Amino acid sequence: MLNIVLFGPPGAGKGTQAARLLEKYQLIHLSTGDILRGEIAANSPLGQAAKKNMDKGELVPDEVVIGMIERKIDANSAANGFIFDGFPRTTAQALALDKMLATKGTPISVMLALEVEKQELIDRLLLRGKDSGRADDQDQSIIENRIKVYNNETTPVKDFYAAQRKYQGVDGMGTIDSIFNRLCCAVDNL
Ligand code: AMP
Repeated sequence: MLNIVLFGPPGAGKGTQAARLLEKYQLIHLSTGDILRGEIAANSPLGQAAKKNMDKGELVPDEVVIGMIERKIDANSAANGFIFDGFPRTTAQALALDKMLATKGTPISVMLALEVEKQELIDRLLLRGKDSGRADDQDQSIIENRIKVYNNETTPVKDFYAAQRKYQGVDGMGTIDSIFNRLCCAVDNL
């Protein structure tokens, strides 16, 4: 199995690149942000609770997202592999993911971390906010908070995979095609 953690700050292009990677390598896309937005659209109790955090640019509690991912992995037991997008976002989530995958005998293959300059992230998110209507992409202070939360709570996840020699940084600046080519090179060289 090919299990990829696609990592990077908000606006790094994880969703865009995940869509291309899953088609090329026939993988299942697991985006906790997408699953949470689905819960909000369905007005479920989980969605209503998560929305309070998401609207402020804060993280949703670990146990909520860990449970969501576990259910999705179990529901796709015949998959070729998974692309984890926006998960894990804390070291506790990374530990939980390793434990889950160990029980299935299919570890994380690699973490591909998209590296993008801060001003470019803000520009991309504001543009996406206009196009998609996503509330957390439309307000500069919420965007700044998400980047701060990423720097404080999420970057330690890089060290977690670096310690397992699975971390690979990928230049996330440039065209969608050029970034995709860099990601494919990294996957093909595994
Ligand atoms: P994203 O679509 O990945 O940018 O996520 C949008 C929002 O959903 C984030 O700002 C968080 O509030 C929440 N979220 C998504 N994934 C996670 C996660 N793995 N852990 C905690 N909160 C998350």
